[in-house]
This record gives sequence, structure tokens and C-alpha cells, in this order.
Amino acid sequence: MKAVVIRAPNRAFFRDEADPTAGDGQVLVKVALAGVCMSDVEVMKGTRPAPYVKYPVIPGHEWCGTVEQVGSGVKRVAAGDRVAVQGHNFCRACSWCSRGETNLCASYNEIGFTLPGGFAEYVAVRADLAHPFAKTLPFEAAAMVEPFACVVHGAQRARIQREDTVAVVGPGTIGLLAVGWAAMSRPARLVAVGLDRGNEAVARRMGATHYFTVKDEPAAKVREMTGGAGADVVFEAAGSEAAVPLALELARRGGTVVLAGIAGGSRRMFLESDLFALKDLRVDGVFAYTTDSFERALRMIESGQLDVKPLITHTLPLRQFEKAFELLSNRPEPVVKVMLRP
Ligand SMILES: [Zn+2]
Ligand SMILES: [Zn+2]
Repeated sequence: MKAVVIRAPNRAFFRDEADPTAGDGQVLVKVALAGVCMSDVEVMKGTRPAPYVKYPVIPGHEWCGTVEQVGSGVKRVAAGDRVAVQGHNFCRACSWCSRGETNLCASYNEIGFTLPGGFAEYVAVRADLAHPFAKTLPFEAAAMVEPFACVVHGAQRARIQREDTVAVVGPGTIGLLAVGWAAMSRPARLVAVGLDRGNEAVARRMGATHYFTVKDEPAAKVREMTGGAGADVVFEAAGSEAAVPLALELARRGGTVVLAGIAGGSRRMFLESDLFALKDLRVDGVFAYTTDSFERALRMIESGQLDVKPLITHTLPLRQFEKAFELLSNRPEPVVKVMLRP
């Protein structure tokens, strides 16, 4: 089969690889589409922390396809099923897994990082990680389930009421999906905050009622529109250390802040030490997702509650993966999600 193989940082090839087959308890999936994520760019550049990648690797963790072959002992999934695949191959045995916190499994092993991923014609995966979906759901929407699962997982502790003001910091794929998620609860105000206005139009299409850049003094603006209070719920997905204090500042006293962004490189920030207590803030960090969050994310997209199509700005053949990486790294034109088609 043809696949993208990153042998080492900055050494990627589109080449022939041995066809995988479905082992016991596995299914072989023919890849329909795979989204490119900034973490794929990190794998390419060699900036992903060492425990979270194993070279050589076939990247691709936001993908879906059709089951081609079923290994022995597999009952849930059949050949011909269309499936979205969750990436974390949690061990099912460690103390985190036994608490149901499979996203925090003690042995990190993820499709597209330490296991072969979706930038290929075929991937053999554990059957319990493959989630069948209806034929009416287009593949491009199903490939967005993986990033949306992170939002669903992080947002489960943040309840949005009709009269609420919600702010989302960082309008990339995750942030825009968070806007879409928040819009489903129809809050009174849904504010997106970005570095520039590049993704304003798509943020509004996903349901944002207001859009500010960081230069617009967004926290002051949000206080102004909420009688001096601030946002009830803030979702941060910016991936920069400056976004964290901004997210905390945007929240009202007694508000909830969900931090999903990863700035990388062990960045540091300075915060007023009394901020959390004085504001009675609830701050949740979020790392990846569980099977349950993935399943809920899939059903929200499958049922049409969330339309993810506005986020897909480019679709390229797999062999043009370098162009996809280049689009995401340099952003010469508006880009949110680039899909690769094997
Ligand atoms: Zn991703
Ligand atoms: Zn585990």
C-alpha cells in the first residue's frame, strides 16, 4: 500500500509499505479520509515530546474509512461497516484504565504517533476502537469526530445555560468545534477570540455571536457586555501560554474555565496567586478523550446536531501531504482543516 512515512524529523516519504492485515481482535480499515492536525506537523518537525512519538511512524489520527477485513473474535464490527477510529490504544489494565480514565492510561500508545496511522491506504486497528456510523454521514464529517471528541470530553463538566455568556479562546479546529458545541446550547452570547480576524467568518458560521482579536481587549469587552461580570464558561484551545491568563481573565467570578490548549516546550506563565480563590474559579484541564466521549462526539455529528463542514477548507490527495503540512505551518491562505485522501 501507499503511505506517508516520517522516518525521522523532517524526513518524510510517500512510499510503498507492506499491506497490514487484521490480527486477532482487530479490523483492517480502508482509509477514506484523514485530517491533518498541528500535532502531525509537530511529528514532522520533531517538536513533539519524545514519549509521545516513535519514529519511523505513519502519521494520521483524525480519520475514518470502511472495514475491509475482520480478525478472529471480532463481533461488534463487520466487513463493509464505515467506522471512525479513536486513537488511544489504552491498556485496559492500569489504575487509570480501571477507573475509566482511559485517556490517561499509564502506557501511552496512539494511532498516528506510536502506532501506524491514517496517512495510508489501510490501517489495522483494535476492533473496540472502531466505531461504526450510518452511511448517510459523509466521510469528511466522520473524520472530524476525533478532534471533536476532545471538545466533548473537556466540555462535559461545563454546563451552559440559555442566559450564559460563553467565550472560546483560539479559533483553530478545536476552538471552532468548541464554538459549535457551545452553540448547541444556545447561550445568550458566544464570543470567539483569536489572534487575528482570519477565522472570524468560520467562527460565526459555527455560531459565534461576537468575534474579538486579542488586541481588542476582549476581557474588557466581555465584561462590558455582561454588566461587569465576565463569561460564565470559557473554553481555551489556543496553544499559547498567553492564552491561559486571558481565559482566566475572561471568566466571571464563579465561572468555569476549560483549558484544552497545549503550548508545548514547557512554557511558563505568571499568574496572580489569589486569582483562583478570589474568583472562586473552576478550572478543568483536558487531555484527549475516552471511548464514551468519542462515541458521544460521533453521535452528535452523525445526527446532524453539529455541522462540521465549514471547517474543512482543503482536501488533497495523500501524495500531496507536504503541501498540506506547508499550508498548516505557514498559512499562506485561510486554512482550518486539511483532509488527505489516499
Ligand atoms: Zn489532532
Ligand atoms: Zn491503561
